[in-house]
Amino acid sequence: MRNECVAGLFTLVVVMVLSGCRAGNYPEPVPPVTVNRTYEKVDPSPAVVADFYDLRLKIDTEKDCLAETVSMDIQNNTDSLVDTVYLRYNPMGYFDYLREANPEAAGVNRDKGAEITSIRFEGEDKELTAEYLLDGTSVKIGLADDAIEPGEKRTLIVDAWTDIPDVEDRFGMLRRDEGKLYALALCFPYIDCSCDGMWQIDPPLYLGGGGENRNPDLKDYHVEIDVPEQFEVACAGVPVRKGGTVSVDLENIRDFAVVVSDFMDVDTFDTQGITIRNYYLRTGDIEAYKEISRQAIIDSFEFYTGLLGNYQRKEYSMAQYVDGMEYSGFAVVDGRNLMNGGPDNGNKLMRNTAHEAGHSWFYDAVGNNEYNEGWIDEGIISYLASYELVLNDIESYKTEKKYGSDWTLKDQTNALKKSNALIEENQLKPLDHCYLNTPWHEYPENSGPGSKEYIYAPIFLCHAKEIMAEEAFYSFLKEVYQTYAMKIVHSEDILEILRKYDNSSKMNELIAFYFSGSHTFP
Ligand SMILES: [Zn+2]
Repeated sequence: MRNECVAGLFTLVVVMVLSGCRAGNYPEPVPPVTVNRTYEKVDPSPAVVADFYDLRLKIDTEKDCLAETVSMDIQNNTDSLVDTVYLRYNPMGYFDYLREANPEAAGVNRDKGAEITSIRFEGEDKELTAEYLLDGTSVKIGLADDAIEPGEKRTLIVDAWTDIPDVEDRFGMLRRDEGKLYALALCFPYIDCSCDGMWQIDPPLYLGGGGENRNPDLKDYHVEIDVPEQFEVACAGVPVRKGGTVSVDLENIRDFAVVVSDFMDVDTFDTQGITIRNYYLRTGDIEAYKEISRQAIIDSFEFYTGLLGNYQRKEYSMAQYVDGMEYSGFAVVDGRNLMNGGPDNGNKLMRNTAHEAGHSWFYDAVGNNEYNEGWIDEGIISYLASYELVLNDIESYKTEKKYGSDWTLKDQTNALKKSNALIEENQLKPLDHCYLNTPWHEYPENSGPGSKEYIYAPIFLCHAKEIMAEEAFYSFLKEVYQTYAMKIVHSEDILEILRKYDNSSKMNELIAFYFSGSHTFP
């Protein structure tokens, strides 16, 4: 996710309200469980995996709701019986959160909700028992007599429905005179991550509260979406329409998301041998959006490919929205300025594209636990996009200027200098440490959520680059990417590679300041 508002972060207070649930739908919530996995190197091969998902989605564009039937193939790779499975279904807690934390959205979402109506194994009528935890977002399924044998694979089927929140969020919608756009993300049921017989149940990060806590395991998806023909469907891969159904097959993805709109078109082009599907909205300054975003995607793909190595897929899709968020092979970007007629003041579209496209390298290719080690994907990409890519005099600047943007390279440099100075002088210096490898909800003193992921992690990388030779710094980043592409990386793995290039006492001092655990000054 994008988060460039440096000053705002220090004052941002995200109200995490553990509100009561609607009577009858699910039991009282329990407080979030903080799983402190800091610095624990875990087995990269999960013990219980769901490696295939079949999503059947029906979007009701009159009532703004979504019906889901999701089948997931669950494989028990442990040598003991598995009698409990943890399912994640974010919409269950989201509406209560929305009503409590977003007064503007509370009214229009007053009567909205979500519900899981059935959980069963394929070929069986018997309903499995479900216990709703963490505000209803985590579903503990008791398998009892249906426990999964070691080595066995079984298909679990979940039926659910959810209203689509009337809010411009990652899971939400956009209403314009020209039509509607549904952003359907973080709203499909999936199995939580498990390692060594332990389920990793990270607390819910409410969709509007920033941050992510997705299961990073790679899995295949077959998706079928029933939606009226005037609605275009944007997602990863190559969506194919037959009548009222759009289907797509995806391999080795970490998360599925889709944008559906009746005022959206697509511009398709190639760059770096990759087919790009660039979805834009038929509103505002359409030509400016198409041209600026196309150039920003081209500049980004050239930059990351040159610096880190090849993009891992054949296709990439991006859709215009009101804010940025990364998925596998797909992202939404902040195209609001141009939606409103432009110009792209503050250069948001270009900078956000540089960030979200970069997540194809860190988040999608190199996976990590976004809750416990969010500094890896957000920090590395914030650093590369804001401190390297957009400081080059790339073609996108000229394209932006052509359409009236007043943003200059100098503005960008000044913004970075200002944020560095703020952090150095007022925030970081008084602290004796600033641990990046801590869960999302734990952040340094005098700062707010997201500060270590979006601000301090890039500063750590700036310092590392200052300490080591520039060439070694780029080789280090490239080696991390090439070693862990299509795998999961942990902080310790990254630091091991960093130390290969520079194991000086100065570097170890820096590591000891930014990382908890075994990284003490030698
Ligand atoms: Zn991001």
